[in-house]
Amino acid sequence: MATKAVLLSYIQSKRIISTHNHHLPDHMHKDMSLHRILSGSYVNWMTTPPDLSDADAVWAYIRRFQANSFFRWLFAALEDLYGLPFVPENLAEMDARIRKAYEDSGYHLRLLTDRCRFDKVVNERQPDPGSNLGHPELFAPSFRCDCFFSGYLKDKPEPNGFLARSLFENPDVATMEEYLSEMRQAILAKKAAGCVALKVAIAYERPINFENTDLEKAQKALNNPHATEQEVLDFGDVVMFEIAKIAAEADLPLQIHTGMGQCKATNPIGLLKLIETNRETKFHLLHGGFPWFEDSYALLLQFRHVWSDLCWIPYLSTTAAKQYLKIALEAGDAHRFTWGCDTWLSEDSVGALLAMEDVLSSALSEMVDDGAFDMAQAEYLVDRILYDNPVELFKL
Ligand SMILES: [Zn+2]
Repeated sequence: MATKAVLLSYIQSKRIISTHNHHLPDHMHKDMSLHRILSGSYVNWMTTPPDLSDADAVWAYIRRFQANSFFRWLFAALEDLYGLPFVPENLAEMDARIRKAYEDSGYHLRLLTDRCRFDKVVNERQPDPGSNLGHPELFAPSFRCDCFFSGYLKDKPEPNGFLARSLFENPDVATMEEYLSEMRQAILAKKAAGCVALKVAIAYERPINFENTDLEKAQKALNNPHATEQEVLDFGDVVMFEIAKIAAEADLPLQIHTGMGQCKATNPIGLLKLIETNRETKFHLLHGGFPWFEDSYALLLQFRHVWSDLCWIPYLSTTAAKQYLKIALEAGDAHRFTWGCDTWLSEDSVGALLAMEDVLSSALSEMVDDGAFDMAQAEYLVDRILYDNPVELFKL
């Protein structure tokens, strides 16, 4: 058997810890259908699904998007799970099989535990940050801290509607010292309630080059509805430095979304000052900074307190992910990589897993065939990335 096939079957025999996910609560998996899956998963970022009973429209949809990684792997997952090729004449039957499967309210979870082989999922779900979705045996929550960037105003929610100061003992804070102290208490309370990590996805709202550590500058935005854009950024910078500090003190890995987002200065090297000045913080950088991978290579090589999570990369571009994994391993070490499916619907979780299995088996087999290491080392890397590294990092 070719090296890739051997490694793939090894990977498929392994249980997995998914280190980053947004899985939906139980009630949101009710009345599932093929149309809902296509309109509620990553493929919908590219286009809304066509009328599934219109064969010409479905063919046009397939032809246009089949090369896109989101579509490639979601179609593969649907074909695998429901036993039918994704072609127009099968979609009514595929839809019927999906509806039937979802009559069982535990089905969406079994796809994660049985089909995806997940032992644990580090999950982050808005607008209920820190929730384990009522399934503590499977979901270990990561506490999303984005609300603290909006909390310069008492009644300004983060984009999903959550109010930072709803977590504060005194929501009427008057100084930055008070604000940061309330934030600290809120984060420590989330840790006490079972959160295993902190998460910041502020790259969807602002650049991630955090520079300002001056409290006086930050104070200009606090309780000021007329704060300028720069004052709000200065406030957010101070918040980010404090989150990194608290993460170290509480010994919680800090997950940061890098790359894409607003695409405005979201490349990972913007984090340089934050990483340099918080050497006790475990920075768990998500997505490799796609597509700005070079920044991640530099950070991995330079800083031993930086981890790279491969989540989303195989689903964004399968080809880029293979390249990223090889170079990142060459610039890093076996103990600082993890992977999460980074999805909210179970079919997308299966698709993301299929993509990762392909990427991992391809990249590692190419390195074996190239003489970089032997098969035993490739298996060691699989074990570390899919299981042992997350168990250590998140203390699961
Ligand atoms: Zn995510």
